[in-house]
Amino acid sequence: MAHAACDIHTHTIFSRHAYSTVEENVRAAVELRCELLGITDHFSSMVHPEAPTGVDLRDYQHFLNFEVWPESWLGVRLMHGCEADIVDLDGHLYGWDMPVDRGLGGPYDGSVLLQDVVFSNCDYVIASVHMKQWAAGATREQLTQMYIRALEHPKVLVLGHVGRSGLDFDVDEVAQVARELGKLIEINEGSLHGRQDCTERCRYIAERCMVAGCMVATSSDAHISCEVARLDGVRKLVDKVGYPPRLIATRDAETFLRVWERALAQ
Ligand SMILES: [Zn+2]
Ligand SMILES: [Zn+2]
Repeated sequence: MAHAACDIHTHTIFSRHAYSTVEENVRAAVELRCELLGITDHFSSMVHPEAPTGVDLRDYQHFLNFEVWPESWLGVRLMHGCEADIVDLDGHLYGWDMPVDRGLGGPYDGSVLLQDVVFSNCDYVIASVHMKQWAAGATREQLTQMYIRALEHPKVLVLGHVGRSGLDFDVDEVAQVARELGKLIEINEGSLHGRQDCTERCRYIAERCMVAGCMVATSSDAHISCEVARLDGVRKLVDKVGYPPRLIATRDAETFLRVWERALAQ
């Protein structure tokens, strides 16, 4: 069993198709001696269908009260994040064009954008493609630019499960930008237990990232606490490819915190 020192991509019941609480994820991390845990629930239309009355902050309260979390819980460094959907070929992230119409205490005047409210509370953002109707017919160059623009967002630290998106982009070009920005491409455990072609694509991406000298984040994408910090597939892939430990940002908490500070302080 390969356990992780850091798991920066996990979900809780706030994601609606995940089943554990923050505390259950923390306890699972403790059990496996995981030093740092990131809770990154979906910031996506998957979680909240568009309300006919506009954007209601009451639907996003999970992201609004993070300050009640201790920085360290049972010895685990706890970080708040989100996994935001990439929503168009310009690499925009969910909520970028959604003015808030209602706050917790009453109507808002729409001068505040949902993404700004949520991102300002997050330590970092993972940008991922889930729904991709908007990518139909896009060229390889467009998809490459889409990932690059998402990565350039000042709050984005990680491109999530790029091997699972099924989108054909220039990995070398994206990995090069990641290296320049000191940001991360994810090697995602959840992508390695399904279709063989997806596993092979993940391995190809890891090999190209290694050639580019870009750092990666290894993470579980756990949707239930028993998956937290368990990275058997990732470990196998990393070993097979021979990914140098110095380029694995999640190899320990200290390294991850240093990478995070540098990348998002730019
Ligand atoms: Zn999910
Ligand atoms: Zn996820």
